[in-house]
Amino acid sequence: HGVVVAIDGPSGSGKSSTSRGVAADLGLRYLDTGAQYRALTWWMIEHGVDVDDAAAIASASLWPRLESGTDPEAPTITVDGRRVDAEIRGQAVTDAVSRVAGVQTVRNRLIELQREYIRAALAEGPGVVAEGRDIAAVVWPVADTKIYLTADQAVRAARRGAENGGADLIKTQADLARRDAEDALTTRPLDAAPGAVVVDGTHLSLADVIARIVEIATE
Ligand code: C5P
Repeated sequence: HGVVVAIDGPSGSGKSSTSRGVAADLGLRYLDTGAQYRALTWWMIEHGVDVDDAAAIASASLWPRLESGTDPEAPTITVDGRRVDAEIRGQAVTDAVSRVAGVQTVRNRLIELQREYIRAALAEGPGVVAEGRDIAAVVWPVADTKIYLTADQAVRAARRGAENGGADLIKTQADLARRDAEDALTTRPLDAAPGAVVVDGTHLSLADVIARIVEIATE
């Protein structure tokens, strides 16, 4: 039977690149749970759901079908069959996602979906690297390896800014601070889960962080 590697941490900690790298190195599938929250948020905006209204979010009936492509070399996300990989990275989704993710009905539903993906990966073979905020604490507490990946806020903002084509650093840092604060309210737990190994990437290259986690996962 397979293994589950949980990689949790705040925005801009390098979770996605790291998780994909670890999955590729270990021959595992890759599950991006943030992409699922983003995809659902995209769908709500697209359907005119008021993302400031928790009751409206919770009662949005006929939720879409979300599908995550779990190849670490080329992950994908589709909503009712439509690829939304680019759309979910836009500003509108980034601004609203924490609020949608704070609605418990949304979380319950996505946590169940995430467990299905993890079970499927385990049934198929070597397993999965699952990336998010609450994988080790809530989604899959029996994960074989639990990593809490973090970095100083200024470094996370600088990396996010570079990813977004050199976006204004002050604004990027303000956005990140706001999302950290919103996530702290809505996305429990934002801290390391019991038993998680904290990896601080502030002074490490991506390759070093991947190597460190691969070492932890295989020791
Ligand atoms: O990982 P990413 O930054 O793309 O996640 C986007 C948002 O989705 C987070 O800011 C958080 O609000 C939410 N999220 C969550 N639980 C997860 C993954 C993401 O609430 N497991």
